[in-house]
Amino acid sequence: MKINYPHGSYFALFLFFLLSTNFCHSQITTAEKAELYLSIKGEITFTFQVKKDSDIQRYTENLSIIHYNSVTKTVKAWANEKQFRFFQAKNIAYEVPKSENEVDAISIYDVSKQSRYASRAPLTFPVNTYPTYAEYAQQMQEFENSYPTLVDKFSIGTTTQNDGKEILFVKISDNVGIDEQEPKLMLTSSMHGDEIAGYPMMLSLINYILTVYNDVGHSDHARIKNLVENAEIWINPSANPDGTYYNDATNTSVTNARRANHNSWDLNRNYPDNVAGIHPDGNSIYELETQYFMTLANNNHFVISANFHGGTELVNYPFDNAYATTVSHSEDPGGVGPFYAHPDTNWFEDISVEYATHTQTDANSGSTAGAPYNYKPSYMTDDDDSYYKLSPGVTHGAEWYRVYGGRQDYMNFYQQCRETTIELSDTKILPESQLDDYWYYNRDAILDYLTQGTYGFTGVVKDAGTSNPINATVTIVGHDGYGSHTVTELPQGDYYRPIEAGTYDILFEADCYQSYTLTNQTIANYETKLLADVFLTPIAGSAPVNITPSNVSATTASVSWDNITGATYDYQYRILGSPTWISGSNASNSIALSGLTQSSQYEIQVRSLCNSNTSPYSSSVLFTTTAPPPCTGNLINSFPYNEDFDSGIGDWVQGANDVPGSNYEDWTLKSGGTTSNGTGPNSGYGGSGNYFYTEASNANTTTNVGQNVSITLISPCFDLTNYINPTFSFYYHMFGAGMGSLSVEISTDNGSNWNQLDASGNTVTNTPILNGQQQGSNAASWLQQNIDLNAYSGLFIKLRFTGTTGSTYISDMAIDQLNLSATLNSFTPVADCRDISITLDASGNASITSSSIDNGGSAGNLSIDISSFDCSNIGTNNVTLTATDPTDSGNTDSCVAVVTVNQPAAPTGLECWETATFNNTTCVWDVTGSQPAAPTGLECWETA
Ligand SMILES: [Zn+2]
Repeated sequence: MKINYPHGSYFALFLFFLLSTNFCHSQITTAEKAELYLSIKGEITFTFQVKKDSDIQRYTENLSIIHYNSVTKTVKAWANEKQFRFFQAKNIAYEVPKSENEVDAISIYDVSKQSRYASRAPLTFPVNTYPTYAEYAQQMQEFENSYPTLVDKFSIGTTTQNDGKEILFVKISDNVGIDEQEPKLMLTSSMHGDEIAGYPMMLSLINYILTVYNDVGHSDHARIKNLVENAEIWINPSANPDGTYYNDATNTSVTNARRANHNSWDLNRNYPDNVAGIHPDGNSIYELETQYFMTLANNNHFVISANFHGGTELVNYPFDNAYATTVSHSEDPGGVGPFYAHPDTNWFEDISVEYATHTQTDANSGSTAGAPYNYKPSYMTDDDDSYYKLSPGVTHGAEWYRVYGGRQDYMNFYQQCRETTIELSDTKILPESQLDDYWYYNRDAILDYLTQGTYGFTGVVKDAGTSNPINATVTIVGHDGYGSHTVTELPQGDYYRPIEAGTYDILFEADCYQSYTLTNQTIANYETKLLADVFLTPIAGSAPVNITPSNVSATTASVSWDNITGATYDYQYRILGSPTWISGSNASNSIALSGLTQSSQYEIQVRSLCNSNTSPYSSSVLFTTTAPPPCTGNLINSFPYNEDFDSGIGDWVQGANDVPGSNYEDWTLKSGGTTSNGTGPNSGYGGSGNYFYTEASNANTTTNVGQNVSITLISPCFDLTNYINPTFSFYYHMFGAGMGSLSVEISTDNGSNWNQLDASGNTVTNTPILNGQQQGSNAASWLQQNIDLNAYSGLFIKLRFTGTTGSTYISDMAIDQLNLSATLNSFTPVADCRDISITLDASGNASITSSSIDNGGSAGNLSIDISSFDCSNIGTNNVTLTATDPTDSGNTDSCVAVVTVNQPAAPTGLECWETATFNNTTCVWDVTGSQPAAPTGLECWETA
């Protein structure tokens, strides 16, 4: 039994486990082993088989897939406890390899436990031990204390466990306190807390850089001096110390190191992902450690980065979430993709091969004879994408297997940092006796990798007016995509663009500046090319264009215009001819105006503000507010509209003079049952609240409408101007043997004329939508009636209930829970035509598409009524272009273009005796004429 239990409690737990189950170790079932690991580490690494490669996609959201062997169809996965329960529920057989879940404390530690509790900092170098957290923190401080002009040590945040551990960095550079015109290069290790070969290695590296920089006679001095004086090196040895020192209250032992952070989340699945979305791991938050790195990357532009892991030995380059090739991926049999390669794939492949090859050489034989370490013949030779690019020790992420939420893709796609994932050791937690070896395998490769971040195009971008450095985007024309462009960083305005050798056009862009392209810039590999300062001219301030009013009503209007990147806007508007403008400012390129005067022509102007430049106002664009609604009373113009009468009659009104004579003539508001037996509901819809009903008891002047009379209840004015697909619905209760009928009527002229509706919204005559008894008892449920009002989209309407009581008092009909729903018609199709000329081809035919006559301003799905032309169309033709709202086929706009059809071009290359004549019937050029016969009777000295 080699699991090391640093605390009595865990050891006791394990003993209890053994005793209570009465198993000896070898008899523990796989499930029991899983429980044991979950109890000790809160996470588990396990393997299972899939039938086919594509099956692993089913697990990526709920597990971390950490390896997949497509030959044996074996998935190696990691899960926290919650994720593992999800997996267990699927009843899939699994294995729990001991080597993936236990480390052998006796074999990893060279240093006795006693000395481990006494501080060993400052450490000795190269670091041949796993320091305690305290030793690590003290050593990081020691670097700064010993080299104050070269080292800045800082924390980017306290870990989730919040027991004093921090995410520590050292920044190394000459003039470290100043942000110089130098590329920022980053190394970070062990975000997976149990992949810690890189952890002591980073400490050794920091020490090596500092000592060699100060040793001018050292054989490596020139390379180190170049890096320290021409770059900033940011190194984070331990990105997840909570995971590394898991289950050790004193943070001294890595024996229980685990992958996850303190909250049991895999940090390398916790980043926003451009393919899988903002929380691809199902965690609703970004863990603190993730947030710290995101903030760091937001505030600093890192040119190149390496993210050190373990578990295999290779360099993995982006993207992890998208295939680089469209060749069949058995993991993705439907070919869903996405498929795209990082534009700098060749560069990534090259620097990755350089890294892997360098480590292979140093691991095989050492860079110096008799080097003080043990060789490893097959180091860093895993190749998991050999079908894609055969390069031992290097793999394209997704061509191996896809990962979502990883930091590498986040840094590349969102932060323009060229980050790779370097897997340092097959064994995640190396025995301390091997730490020196792996340091020497990787030392020179890491330094050359960092140096790659100093190559490429570099320079600064400034304001042409003030010469101040500015934030700008630097894009390789025709090359960049998926975040591969770079950006300048203030205060220097400097940029760095490592790139494969070639000749490139470089586009410089900044908000509120004119763009500039530097053409034909040639660069070699391993070259740093300092380009002349680029001065961008501020946009002098151009007035916004395409100012477009929309959704104009009686009192409101929306106005939008073309966006100017980086600009804000002022606007002013007034009734045409008014002496005073109403003005305002707006950050975006659209505004909603309200409080306008109906039936008035307005003018509006807009200007842009960019930096300190303000454009003139645009010329006026006119729009006219609509007439007052053709409806009086309350106006309802936002939907859905609901009325349950629980607060009274609301916006509805009783019809006037419904019943001739002096009888009561209104609908009655009521809760609970009605007054008569054998009719009416027991309660309002849903069991409580008010409803309106017709009290059909013998007519009186105060409460009862009596029999065989019609009374009405009239709606407010519904403004459907900007709406489509309106539907009206209500609940009714019509129980009573003498039940009459209920009609719903509509008016589009403020109630002057009413038409009965059926359920489809058609107008009908003398056909009430509900006729006679509809329920069998007072207690029967209310029923719902829908009426399609699509025919009234865009109009002002009023609705009216007419209740007609039957011939007995048992005719209490009730209505409740009214609803009018409609969809805001935000899309305005636009057909924008242009006239064109076309020429028939040699066979007498020609065809066009909708885009042929689209003048560029069309919006919507475009179609044309004539697309093919022949001889019969020579001359002018009217072609209608129709733009259709993609969500409403009835919402269209159209225009007519004149298409002038020309006869086919005359044939060329005719012989001098040939004549071409256009045949209007066959639509082709007829060529006539033949070569005259050669003259006869020539004399022997003559030639024809
Ligand atoms: Zn890892």
